[in-house]
Amino acid sequence: MKQLNGKVAVVTGAGSGIGRATAESLARSGCRLALVDIDADALDATAESLGALGAISSCHLADVADRQRMEALPAEVNTEHGAVHILVNNAGVSVLKTFEEHTIEDFEWLVGINFWGVVYGCKFFLPLLREAEEAHIVNISSMFGFIGVPGQSSYCATKFAVRGFTESLWAELHDTSIGVSSIHPGGISTGIAKKVRVNSEEARGILQESFDRYGHPPEHVAEAVVRVIRGNKLRGRVGAEAYAFDLLKRAFPVGFHKLIGRHIRVPGS
Ligand code: NAD
Repeated sequence: MKQLNGKVAVVTGAGSGIGRATAESLARSGCRLALVDIDADALDATAESLGALGAISSCHLADVADRQRMEALPAEVNTEHGAVHILVNNAGVSVLKTFEEHTIEDFEWLVGINFWGVVYGCKFFLPLLREAEEAHIVNISSMFGFIGVPGQSSYCATKFAVRGFTESLWAELHDTSIGVSSIHPGGISTGIAKKVRVNSEEARGILQESFDRYGHPPEHVAEAVVRVIRGNKLRGRVGAEAYAFDLLKRAFPVGFHKLIGRHIRVPGS
């Protein structure tokens, strides 16, 4: 999709971090936005920032893990904007615990949002995307969609799943007017650490500090989203560590994994 001007884009998790930066970036490219989030105040703040850019947007309070709510969403967006051309399935959460410390509820919570949220988005918006002359789906995975690391068994499982799901969808839709991409960011400085499920506030602090110190700005992911849409790319990576993880895992599938297992410790466990 070369021309984004005048297109309608749906962004989930648009209230914060990567979702907000992506909404702003798409707005600067001339898109109208349907902003989806579970947090009403955060949605309002994003809508205000888009208003300052002169963009048109609508707010849709929704839990992406809620099948019925997601099923109702496309009609709501269509009534507001008359079409949907771009869908960015971005809403996501994190758990930082060993697998033994994960409760089944932790796992179900995370899979509901990070995986089912993406599936519901694609399933229920696909009929509207098919109606558009050209359309694009972007699913936000992670560099942890390339390699499983300690403390992130649920997160890695969903981010691998989003990559596999996206590849299948791409293969099914590659000769249609709908492009499909996954994005694999490295560490990004956002609010994700505030909501991560951890065993101790100390662990949360360690995570937040490392995002603050080493994280890339969310605008870098937003630029990658626009890039994969314009270039119709299957995959986008953000940050040197995402490229390194992808390449090292492919070059040294076992050796790199041993290194990760030996050197990454789960904070607070
Ligand atoms: P964030 O916490 O700053 O933003 C996430 C947004 O999603 C928030 O506005 C939150 O309210 C919303 N959200 C959470 N649960 C929801 C639900 N059930 N329904 C609807 N909205 C919901 O986090 P972020 O870092 O911007 O994360 C965005 C995406 O990027 C996630 O999928 C995350 O896994 C992925 N990602 C993040 C990083 C990183 O380092 N921050 C790296 C790779 C991938």
